[in-house]
Amino acid sequence: MADLRVDGKRLWEALMELAQIGATEKGGVKRLALTDLDRQGRDLVVGWGKAAGMSITIDQIGNVFMRRDGTDNTLPPVVTGSHIDTQPTGGKFDGNYGVLAGLEVVRTLNDRGIRTRAPIEVAFWTNEEGSRFVPVMMGSGVFCGAFTLEHAYAARDTEGKSVGEELERIGYKGTQVPGDHPIGAYFETHIEQGPVLEDADKVIGVVPAVMGLSWYDCTVSGMEAHAGPTPMHLRRDAMQVAARIIPEVVAIANRYPPYGRGTVGMMQVFPNSRNVIPGQVKFSIDLRNVSDALLNTMHEEMVGFVERTAAETGLEIKLERVSYYPPCPFHPDVVGAVRNATAKLGYSTMDVVSGAGHDAIYAARLAPSGMIFVPCKDGISHNEIEDAKPEHLEAGCNVLLHAMLERAGVV
Ligand SMILES: [Zn+2]
Repeated sequence: MADLRVDGKRLWEALMELAQIGATEKGGVKRLALTDLDRQGRDLVVGWGKAAGMSITIDQIGNVFMRRDGTDNTLPPVVTGSHIDTQPTGGKFDGNYGVLAGLEVVRTLNDRGIRTRAPIEVAFWTNEEGSRFVPVMMGSGVFCGAFTLEHAYAARDTEGKSVGEELERIGYKGTQVPGDHPIGAYFETHIEQGPVLEDADKVIGVVPAVMGLSWYDCTVSGMEAHAGPTPMHLRRDAMQVAARIIPEVVAIANRYPPYGRGTVGMMQVFPNSRNVIPGQVKFSIDLRNVSDALLNTMHEEMVGFVERTAAETGLEIKLERVSYYPPCPFHPDVVGAVRNATAKLGYSTMDVVSGAGHDAIYAARLAPSGMIFVPCKDGISHNEIEDAKPEHLEAGCNVLLHAMLERAGVV
């Protein structure tokens, strides 16, 4: 068993074949959730699953589970998976790698005639990207009860088409009640989507946790006036007050390293005219960290700074929290299985806390879960130039294979 390895070439070829569905001119993929292209991608992967002898279950939100029986089918399956929908200018690997790595694990077990005690399943979750339909991570979110099936069905794209209608149309509205599907343990392999592994020249990222995030809308209200006749000391300039708050967002993140993050990525200026003192400025704040306690401290400091700034300047500042995702620590047993497999295979490794959301966060609410990261070129994803090395993808898949076998048990 120690010399068991996946077929990296076969994994790569499957990735390249799936990437042809919705291929873009710049070498990326556009395969939005529940489009005709998504149906083609789903059909291709399901066809591969059936050819590998797996049985298929589809739930009411279109999550697909492909199952390889174990010798004891009363045990809950060891599941791996991810998503095959992409961003409008997405790449070949985000999500797709996690699904096809699972398929490659099954193909390898078939080649060698290896039976596992617990069943093994490869899943793909509906609409992870949240690009065509909000919210993101929709399939896994419904599965774990984060929101209802009705809420998901009612989501509409910009053309007014709903998730419920589109699922029906592409033939992936299944019958199983979401969540009514046991999971013994959940693994997800994924490209890192950040630059840490490449920068440190490591092959495998062990993921102990996913960062939590706190999102805010901040609105500073002053008074619009002519930029010429109004003397400096008589202005109520919303922009100048916003400009005091923005560096503090970064300063707060820097006070809580190594995982503190602070970003202002969106700004609207009213009336947005060069010779008018801005009367109102609205901007977004995105704070992240790896523990609830740190994220709460960052939140308190943000609120305190905004209150003091309002008092000092006399302008009204509204800070509204619009989203909160708590940090998600992964299960020590699953993280341990990934560590063991990486050590056994001799790959260079480090811990990488995920800054991005994944289906594994929702899976973790129901079952012991964990992730395996591999490097991607320049840390770039959600971009047509997203790229990864075949040998890294193969290494991550080998880790997945051995970690899943540890959990499922070999007969
Ligand atoms: Zn993804």
